Amino acid sequence: MNRICVFCGSSNGDLEAYAEGAAVFGSLLAKRNIGLVYGGASVGLMGAVADAVLRANGDVTGVIPQSLVDKEIAHPSLTNMHIVETMHERKALMADLSDGFVALPGGIGTLEELFEMWTWAQLGLHDKPCVLLNIVGYYDQLIGFLDKMTDSGYLKEASRLQLQVAYSPEEAMIACEG
Ligand code: AMP
Repeated sequence: MNRICVFCGSSNGDLEAYAEGAAVFGSLLAKRNIGLVYGGASVGLMGAVADAVLRANGDVTGVIPQSLVDKEIAHPSLTNMHIVETMHERKALMADLSDGFVALPGGIGTLEELFEMWTWAQLGLHDKPCVLLNIVGYYDQLIGFLDKMTDSGYLKEASRLQLQVAYSPEEAMIACEG
């Protein structure tokens, strides 16, 4: 496993535990010599995870569309920064560069990115791990809804299992490494 893509909020959320969890996950990546791929912002949890990897002398690749360079305040000191034209290019490049995907707490951008990677796994377009890191129960209701989707016959059990749920940064790392 060379690089893991992290999707997470461009905001910090209302609990310090979210940024703390992001920082722990970032330091684990660096410790294992696994590069971080992410959306290239310096704000919110996105900044927290990138800063943690950089503090531990790890490798960080950002992918940001030109239109968000100012809005999400492109991180000034990443190992590599790709500035692309569109959101679609951003996601495609993040996917190509990465060997697995982990979502930390975030908003609709985070969910959209994770769910696209998970649906690509469902279609057999890749077999890279997709992991939801449920820091202090942030995603409990979403996980409940996924169970409802399975119970209702909209989400096959096999596809459900393609999204692994982790309850600590260490568990998320183990889920990625298989
Ligand atoms: P959020 O979780 O809404 O704070 O967004 C987290 C990141 O996802 C930000 O860098 C957003 O620019 C990005 N994002 C938002 N919508 C999309 C989308 N449709 N495709 C890819 N990234 C997105």
